[in-house]
Amino acid sequence: MSDCVFCKMAAKEIVPQTVYEDKDILAFYDINPQSPAHILIIPRSHFENILAVGESEAGLLGRMLLAANRVAADKGFAEDGFRLVINCNAHGGQSVDHLHIHLLAGRQMKWPPG
Ligand code: 5GP
Ligand code: ZN
Repeated sequence: MSDCVFCKMAAKEIVPQTVYEDKDILAFYDINPQSPAHILIIPRSHFENILAVGESEAGLLGRMLLAANRVAADKGFAEDGFRLVINCNAHGGQSVDHLHIHLLAGRQMKWPPG
């Protein structure tokens, strides 16, 4: 989508601080970090949110989770732990309408979240 900031990153029109990329997935640091390490994992293709993906994207979703795993391990967060979050629509707190997984690490997380 032409007005989507994450699509612009996927198309390299905007260059984020990338930590992982492959042909379908991009991972980069969040501009407004909520933890010492806050990384976003996105599909290069535009999906409005997690509700917009179907059976044919099951593999892509799996690879996004594996990419998060890999980034967490590469950055040294595996042992202490980390949190993966997908916000969806208003009550989920979604602000960018392009599917993304948040990887939060580097501090003790609280539960329940706010
Ligand atoms: P959401 O609130 O939709 O779950 O998460 C969107 C995230 O995207 C927010 O954490 C926000 O800080 C991040 N974000 C929004 N615009 C940009 C941007 O231009 N660059 C980067 N790196 N992150 C962004
Ligand atoms: Zn997009």
